[in-house]
Amino acid sequence: MMTVNNITISKTTSKKEKPDQTQLGFGQYFTDHMFILDYTEGKGWHDPRIVPYQPITLEPSAMIFHYGQTVFEGMKAYLSEDGDIHLFRPEKNIQRLNRSNDRMRIPEVDETLALQAIKELVKVDADWVPSEPGTSLYIRPYIISTEPFLGVAPSKHYKFMVILSPVGAYYKEGINPVKIAVENEFVRAVKGGTGEAKTAGNYASSLKAQALVASQGYAQVMWLDGIEKKYIEEVGSMNVFFKIDGEVVTPELNGSILEGVTRNSVMELLKHWGITVTERKITVEEIFEAHKNGKLEEAFGSGTAAVISPIGTLAWDGKEIVINDSKTGEVSKKLYDTLTNIQYGKETDVFDWIVKLER
Ligand SMILES: *Cc1c(COP(=O)(O)O)cnc(C)c1O
Repeated sequence: MMTVNNITISKTTSKKEKPDQTQLGFGQYFTDHMFILDYTEGKGWHDPRIVPYQPITLEPSAMIFHYGQTVFEGMKAYLSEDGDIHLFRPEKNIQRLNRSNDRMRIPEVDETLALQAIKELVKVDADWVPSEPGTSLYIRPYIISTEPFLGVAPSKHYKFMVILSPVGAYYKEGINPVKIAVENEFVRAVKGGTGEAKTAGNYASSLKAQALVASQGYAQVMWLDGIEKKYIEEVGSMNVFFKIDGEVVTPELNGSILEGVTRNSVMELLKHWGITVTERKITVEEIFEAHKNGKLEEAFGSGTAAVISPIGTLAWDGKEIVINDSKTGEVSKKLYDTLTNIQYGKETDVFDWIVKLER
């Protein structure tokens, strides 16, 4: 056992066999270690430790099982050309974790400790960062409420954990645009609700709509605002962008949209390239109108998993439009290439987004 930056590290004595890097998929394999930090009311967060990946024991009455007081994050570690391990803007994820915590009444975590924990854990499991093109090590930090109590109240105990999962290339055969259906009945989130927070309930409540459109041949739903069902909010669990008549637009943050790190990075890149990008309200009607007038040039989702996911077909109200002949648009492609090149260290990191793990 050793201690690094106040984090106790106990290494496993039996390392697992590594999975085939060409068959990783998403979130199916877990590395040899995990990070745990406990919270006890009166004492605060305590006992940061890296231990062998293992099951945890909770009381059946633990609050997480009943009222869903929990938050999570999603980010990746990339193996660069020269063998370095890169994190992409990890401080943004940790800041967002604390914004989610605030909404879910979970005590704030020390951002320096959280980043240190992620770095140390990835270093301990560095041999799990895959090297095949497009692969990465997915990092899942999350907090659960663990107090054994059935009252509806904030828990007095929590566990902050980080687990790691080697994941495959999102696009094995090159980027391919997907079919999306605008969701008119179910909503993901509503202003005043928890849409801005990365919290489990938002995803549980999205499954029914997702399953219904999947049965009709669509990859994902496009979510509308929960009040007027007029304004576009997100696509699946990604933020969304449209290129109309040379200008890029994305829904403005309104309290129910999750603010993506990729969304922010896309906007920074577009500005850097001199392409106007505007955050504003966007109606579905406007998108269909722009398509009719030949002005809808591209549409894509953005998120850590896919980076950029072009929308080839959009269905709404019995109509279906095909965007850019269902081909990946020029700007979508350039964003995808630039972001992934920066992540894998193939292109100059002009924005200082990469955090290199010291070896
Ligand atoms: C995580 C997430 C995103 C994308 O965020 P990134 O930080 O870019 O990965 C967008 N929408 C929802 C609902 C999400 O959960």
